[in-house]
Amino acid sequence: MKQTYFTAGPAELYPTIYQHLQTAMDEQIGSISHRSAKFRSLYQFCVEQLRQLLTIPESHGIYFTGSASEVWERIMLNCVEHESFHLINGSFSKKFCEYATAVHKYTHKQEKPFGEGFDYGEVQVPEYAELIAVTHNETSSGVQMRTVDIHKLKRSNSKKLIAVDMVSSAPFPDLDFSLIDTAFFSVQKAFGMPAGLGVWIAGDKCLEKAELLKHGDQHIGAHHNLPTLWKNFQNYETPATPNVLFIYLLGKIAQDFNRIGIETIRKETEEKARMLYKFIESHPEFSPFVKEERHRSRTVVVANTQKPSADVISKAKEAGLVVGSGYGQFKETQIRIANFPATNTEQISQLIDVLGRV
Ligand SMILES: *Cc1c(COP(=O)(O)O)cnc(C)c1O
Repeated sequence: MKQTYFTAGPAELYPTIYQHLQTAMDEQIGSISHRSAKFRSLYQFCVEQLRQLLTIPESHGIYFTGSASEVWERIMLNCVEHESFHLINGSFSKKFCEYATAVHKYTHKQEKPFGEGFDYGEVQVPEYAELIAVTHNETSSGVQMRTVDIHKLKRSNSKKLIAVDMVSSAPFPDLDFSLIDTAFFSVQKAFGMPAGLGVWIAGDKCLEKAELLKHGDQHIGAHHNLPTLWKNFQNYETPATPNVLFIYLLGKIAQDFNRIGIETIRKETEEKARMLYKFIESHPEFSPFVKEERHRSRTVVVANTQKPSADVISKAKEAGLVVGSGYGQFKETQIRIANFPATNTEQISQLIDVLGRV
């Protein structure tokens, strides 16, 4: 039976992907050179679609990596000389920080218990931190940080760089890229593609910093360092042979999103999230894990379950609906439901219906 995936990534594929894959095969995308005019126009197309979708200004380059976690390391090597500051409230934000330590940066952190989020007013940025690392959507706990709070954080620390992990929420958050220095995502979450491509958006302040570090004999890495990526990007090329097929697909999916309109996608996401939270708040078998409404993720909904989560998951599976288990220590007592553009209101209704009968 064909399943519908409500998992947080890899996730349900966006419905148009089948057609785009077919076209890519017909056009022999898998064999074209990454130094050809065809590739350059395909990279350019992808960039133009992403600029429109996320309102990314010309000051920011759009680069491709293996996946999002690679970007954690690239940001630390290219944008931090000595010290970074991390807001940690779950496994992904923690790993971002661990990557920084692994490449020998001095890390400051402010931590919250699992299931809690940050408000602007309580964040204390250390004086010597060069970069603030924020996770917009903590996929492990279902906590989101409001974009207004992220923007305030940058405004009050304008001399520091701000990096936003938007891996499991992009294109949902309305980040203001005139403020955000760098952000990144992977395609297997809300863009509804198979895994295999990371997208790194980085502004001129990041490039300046990387140049500074490079000339001050700091190690910024040989692979995918910012000055090299930027230089190649001037001609819509990449330093190494990239995942050409996925860059093509991402451009097409972003175009599909643009045809619908980002405002509509955001509204639909809000609406589907409302349906899910209303259900888990009212049904006796479930309760929302994140207590504060303003911190609840719109793209990854985490519910506590009365029954063992494995029972809930297998019941849903019988109906062809795949939901995720809780993360780490919450594996047996929670379920996680992705709310990405690939699943529509009817599919969310169907899921609610099935979970309601568990
Ligand atoms: C999935 C995820 C990542 C890691 O993405 P990869 O594609 O596995 O590298 C990083 N941050 C968040 C918030 C995620 O959900």
